[in-house]
Amino acid sequence: MGEKSQELMEKIVSLCKRRGFIFPACEIYGGFANAYSFGPYGAELKNNIKRLWWKKFVHAREDIVGIDGPILLHPKLWEASGHVSGFNDAMVDCKKCKKRFRADHLVEELTGEDMEGRLEDMSKTLRDLKAKCPACGESDWTDARNFNMMFQTEMNGFDGTVYLRPETAGAIFSDFKNVTDSMRVKIPFGIAQIGKAFRNEIVAGNFIFRLREFEQMEIEYFIEPDADWQPLFEKWLDLQEEFALEIGLRKEDISRYEHPKEKLSHYSKKTIDTMYNFPFGVKELYGIAHRGDFDLTQHGKMSGEKLEYFDEGKNKRYVPHVLEPTFGVERSVLAALLSAYHEEEVKGETRVVMKFPKKIAPIHVAILPLSKKDELVDPAKKIFHDLKTSFVSEYDETQSIGKRYRRQDEIGTPYCVTVDFETLTDKAVTVRDRDSMEQERIKIEELVGYLKKKFEE
Ligand code: ATP
Repeated sequence: MGEKSQELMEKIVSLCKRRGFIFPACEIYGGFANAYSFGPYGAELKNNIKRLWWKKFVHAREDIVGIDGPILLHPKLWEASGHVSGFNDAMVDCKKCKKRFRADHLVEELTGEDMEGRLEDMSKTLRDLKAKCPACGESDWTDARNFNMMFQTEMNGFDGTVYLRPETAGAIFSDFKNVTDSMRVKIPFGIAQIGKAFRNEIVAGNFIFRLREFEQMEIEYFIEPDADWQPLFEKWLDLQEEFALEIGLRKEDISRYEHPKEKLSHYSKKTIDTMYNFPFGVKELYGIAHRGDFDLTQHGKMSGEKLEYFDEGKNKRYVPHVLEPTFGVERSVLAALLSAYHEEEVKGETRVVMKFPKKIAPIHVAILPLSKKDELVDPAKKIFHDLKTSFVSEYDETQSIGKRYRRQDEIGTPYCVTVDFETLTDKAVTVRDRDSMEQERIKIEELVGYLKKKFEE
């Protein structure tokens, strides 16, 4: 990571902790496993991103329904999907310091080559090139070997290993029959889900980019086997980018990476990742894959249930093919934080401002009385209570007005409403715009309407 990028990441991590967005989990116990907690503003931001996604891909469409399936699913499902046998990453241990690494990542950093799946080649490359351990600098490696990334657990009343789901898609396929039986879906149609996924990543890191417990927003979009899928695939790619722009990412930071044909799973016709220019490199933000009929066929075979669709119009029964657009929640949050971060010179001082799109800002409006005197606090609290029914609002009477503006800028609040002594006579307040810092005097009785209009812009 370049110095500047490193500095930006450090600023984001520090702002997130200082301002209640994201905290290292279990800090009082010395931290735990590169995990993070979303604090009050982080939880709002994350929920806003999830809500926006649900609104865009479920509520605003006629062809997609949403479900909410369990995290613990029948282990046969993970056998059918290939996760039990094949959901592996290559790991290697440093014999000197005992630290563990992704073998494919070390090799790729050294040679630029993607050796995914070629364990022997990875071991040989690390030895031949005398790869240095990133932790201790020595070069004494074990062989690279596969590590299954599913977390295992036990369940009362069930004999055998149970897994925490490594992706949300599984529940969608296992509910395919129930959804088609109970809903009036007509092909092409999608089933969407937002929820936790768990992967025992060999190395977690880069803040919330690679976690072991994270959330996904996924859609299985079912199409006719002989449908002209290319335009649909393209459309989904565009929608993924559109969503990224809606949460504030800049177009120039977004790119695409098509997985080479020879690397694709046998059932996949095409896979393209939407990439984001993170400070630590251009990395996967979202993905979309054409998975053919692999999943429904596999789950059909393993379960003994026919997972087919009856096309009334064509009087035909078939196993649909599926396009799978998938979005990471935490990667969206991280990219949104990075894109929102701005430093500006104002009157010789640096102002840090998070320019989130208004609809994902954790707090919409802050109400700030200029003094703690009852004559201002009382009307300010009244305004606060009135605004709370329409906007996520915050009331703050502590510290100087300058410091309160700084705080609201740093959490990205689009509007600050100040109540001053003039308010008592002119029944108006000052509304300050986060981005332009312009201030406008607005009558209290017109405030809700004024702000509503601003949020519609
Ligand atoms: P990577 O190559 O970065 O490990 P992947 O290709 O394994 O990712 P997918 O299986 O396609 O990822 O998962 C779908 C989405 O879930 C990704 O696009 C990403 O946004 C998110 N995601 C995957 N793994 C993690 C993780 N460990 N932490 C946070 N988000 C993740």
